[in-house]
Amino acid sequence: MSKKGRLIILSGPSGVGKGTIVKQLLERNPNLRLSVSAATRAPREGEQDGVHYYFISREEFERKITAGELLEYVEYNGNYYGTLREKIEQQMAQGYDVILEIEVEGAARVMEMVPDILSVFILPPSLEALRERLENRHTESPEAVQKRMDRAVYELEQSGKYRYQVVNDQLEDAVQELEALMAYQQAENEESSHVVTTR
Ligand code: 5GP
Repeated sequence: MSKKGRLIILSGPSGVGKGTIVKQLLERNPNLRLSVSAATRAPREGEQDGVHYYFISREEFERKITAGELLEYVEYNGNYYGTLREKIEQQMAQGYDVILEIEVEGAARVMEMVPDILSVFILPPSLEALRERLENRHTESPEAVQKRMDRAVYELEQSGKYRYQVVNDQLEDAVQELEALMAYQQAENEESSHVVTTR
């Protein structure tokens, strides 16, 4: 693989099913990698260090901020989350396309840095459906669920800033739509680089 990979931003409110969609995309496309972020929150049941996140302390996170090791970061629900610059650069240099599964503020900063980036916001079929999904997780207190719902409303208001919006009603449909968008963007890029090289 000699061609440099691309970055893809995927956002959507907590509970919308981003994790499941990403898992499907990764299983089907060997040229795709997920950026594993650093985070200061505690691991949920079943989450592994280095797979879902690099779980680090606030002190370590703040050291990374100062050292410029993060492409972007955010403080969300009292915890820091950030994209590790070196990891994604390595993966892209190896030719992999890299998905950044990040929230709206970090996404806005990456969109400023990379204006032609493929950015997709995953929408729930409705706010009620989102609340149901969050409650069915049984991992958080009612207060925490309410906090995530408040945040979801704010995030949905930002969804228009993304190049595309995909509704996750039927998982398979959402995955296929994303695959089509990635293929479309790839073709568009190849076309524009073709124009440049033939002139
Ligand atoms: P959770 O605690 O549910 O795993 O994640 C909370 C939110 O943080 C999600 O919306 C997720 O997309 C976002 N997030 C995870 N990693 C990063 C990151 O590195 N940067 C930013 N800006 N958001 C992140």
